[in-house]
Amino acid sequence: MRCHVCRSVSFLPLCKTCRRELLQPEPKTRRLDNGLEVISFYAYDDIEPFLLTKHLPHGWAIYRILAKESFSSFKRNIESGTMAIPIDDDPKSGYSHTAILARSLKSATCKTLYGKLHAQNRISYAGRSKSFRLQNPRNFLYTGSAGIKALLVDDIVTTGFTLMEAGDILARHDVEVSGAIVLADADRKG
Ligand SMILES: [Zn+2]
Repeated sequence: MRCHVCRSVSFLPLCKTCRRELLQPEPKTRRLDNGLEVISFYAYDDIEPFLLTKHLPHGWAIYRILAKESFSSFKRNIESGTMAIPIDDDPKSGYSHTAILARSLKSATCKTLYGKLHAQNRISYAGRSKSFRLQNPRNFLYTGSAGIKALLVDDIVTTGFTLMEAGDILARHDVEVSGAIVLADADRKG
């Protein structure tokens, strides 16, 4: 196959050179209004072409590479016994991009909880205002266990409303949310 970026021949959809040059992660923490800490590894603008592959047939492979380049090094910081919970992992296009990300966090001390946090409202937020997002919450349904420790997993944080809403619903189920981990923050520069 060919590299998604430079078109050189590669075993993976992103060649080694492009991975090294374009995907050097820089972890940053952002605290949302409800106190939830979100760790991101890239500025949205820096990896937008990769993020936009999520509904393409080869997007799963790109997401797996993004997760490997960024989340993998974070694994050892996760407190033992934590469950990684992907936001709304719904495999509607054959795979779920958030499930792929959460899976990359799996270790001896961190398990993944698939299919337990679903949005009942999937209206698109793309290009929408903050007030629109606030007026149209995701309305999450959590069907996992109570009394566990969890880390939320998503690909992008924008306003943070989705993560805050997810954190709040988990808290109502007595889930202790230590924070959230995302690939990209739309608010950060460089
Ligand atoms: Zn390349």
